[in-house]
Amino acid sequence: MQSSHQVLHDMFGFDQFRGAQESIIQHVVAGGDALVLMPTGAGKSLCYQIPALVRRGVGVVVSPLIALMQDQVDALTQLGVKASYLNSSLDAAQSQKVISQLLAGDLDLIYVAPERLMNPGFLSMLDRLSTGPGIALFAIDEAHCVSQWGHDFRPEYRQLTVLHERFPKVPRIALTATADAPTRAEIVERLSLESAQQFVSSFDRPNIRYRVLQKHSAKQQLEHFLDAEHANDSGIIYCLSRRGVEETAQWLKDRGWDAMPYHAGLSVETRSANQKRFLREEGVIMVATVAFGMGIDKPNVRFVAHLDLPKSMEGYYQETGRAGRDGLPANAWMAYGLGDVVSLRQMVDSGEASEERKRVERQKLNALLGYCESTACRHQAILRYFGEQHPGGCGNCDNCLEPVVSWNATKEVQKALSCVYRTGQRFGVTHLIDVLLGKVTPRVKQYFHEQVSTFGIGAELNQAQWGSVYRQLVAGGYLDADIALHGGLKLVDHIALPVLRGEQEVWLRKETGYSKNKANQSVT
Ligand code: ADP
Ligand code: ZN
Repeated sequence: MQSSHQVLHDMFGFDQFRGAQESIIQHVVAGGDALVLMPTGAGKSLCYQIPALVRRGVGVVVSPLIALMQDQVDALTQLGVKASYLNSSLDAAQSQKVISQLLAGDLDLIYVAPERLMNPGFLSMLDRLSTGPGIALFAIDEAHCVSQWGHDFRPEYRQLTVLHERFPKVPRIALTATADAPTRAEIVERLSLESAQQFVSSFDRPNIRYRVLQKHSAKQQLEHFLDAEHANDSGIIYCLSRRGVEETAQWLKDRGWDAMPYHAGLSVETRSANQKRFLREEGVIMVATVAFGMGIDKPNVRFVAHLDLPKSMEGYYQETGRAGRDGLPANAWMAYGLGDVVSLRQMVDSGEASEERKRVERQKLNALLGYCESTACRHQAILRYFGEQHPGGCGNCDNCLEPVVSWNATKEVQKALSCVYRTGQRFGVTHLIDVLLGKVTPRVKQYFHEQVSTFGIGAELNQAQWGSVYRQLVAGGYLDADIALHGGLKLVDHIALPVLRGEQEVWLRKETGYSKNKANQSVT
């Protein structure tokens, strides 16, 4: 039997194991079950590939990412590993050929789509395999897909316990890059991994510099960032909608940047051509929806920019995590504004999901908003979310590099909230600010808002500063955007009333990066 280290060196061409790889591999080679939590790019694949090569028989890898199986198998084949896959992209004759190879003991690794495993024919094939060439292990990749509350839920994953029931002696290794404590518990329960050893790596990405900016003119802010820091670098820009992707990519192209769009509305050929260019060439910017990125392994992505809010901390971590896999300095940059908060809240509320699921989605969004508005170290805040300690003071995030000044905004918040109340809890932020600033717009006249008591009482702040106040109030849960009223704001009574009654102080973060001439632009 070859040693794990030999395989690492001779097959994969690496000198050393990374992080916990060695102990995980030892444990699985010895026949133990394992649950592996490691951030994307940390090297999970070797944790099952090497034991599959060292142990007798074939390693069976369950993976939900059909599109990536081919790539993984190609890469392994190039290294001389005998690997293949079984999924719906193969016709009957091709599948049969792979199965013959399996039964003849000609394969070291077989990647299978989860739905395949439930197929009785496949299970009896595994029986023959186990009495013949042997099954080295079961690897369950992207194990968080078993969780109903994650966005990648795959019902077939629930059935995977069948493997353990049928082949109790074969070690199992479940791997994921996304697992907060509740999800981890759910993985253990759903996959019957109670006796598995858990290997939890730090999720910190110290080389990534996290920054969150208040959005005022997103594209100009983005270009300023690119000009200043990434003139010739590869990077990814995430937008929420396909339209946002198209517009931003075109806008950048028009201005001489090498940018390409990627979203699910493009043809398969265009998507795959754009992805290939991004992977092969340097200095290319991919403007994309979240459809882009699963399994993208480009080590020198120097920045990930968000022009819209991700939906959760998991999403944010996953997307920004595609930057700086080579360990060199990289940026995670995000511009965020009130409009984002309102539209994401509305997306959740108006979605098809069950009430229970909406509640979870709202909580996830609120955690992300809390992060955006936080004045604490970003590395610390992210890790805390994933249940990990970090001392703070990282020296590599906006809040550590330029500590945020907070101010006692109680009086201003009372004005902002009472303006919402006095105008009937149905207007959007632009109108509310007009009222506070005492502007006699057609709308103000139409609704006689020059007669409400809050008209013109807000001269101490300018439009942008009021925009910042309202954004923080919505993010902080004092105000809610009403879908029925196209985003009109209303009070969340149990949080807002104590402030209006003077029972509670409110401190807000002072926005920086606001020059006087920008202060009059509309706040999005
Ligand atoms: P994950 O599945 O955790 O996202 P991968 O298994 O795809 O990560 O590995 C990410 C990259 O790191 C790959 O390019 C892989 O070849 C490389 N890698 C993994 N382990 C090592 C190692 N011990 N030494 C050097 N490179 C490694
Ligand atoms: Zn920090």
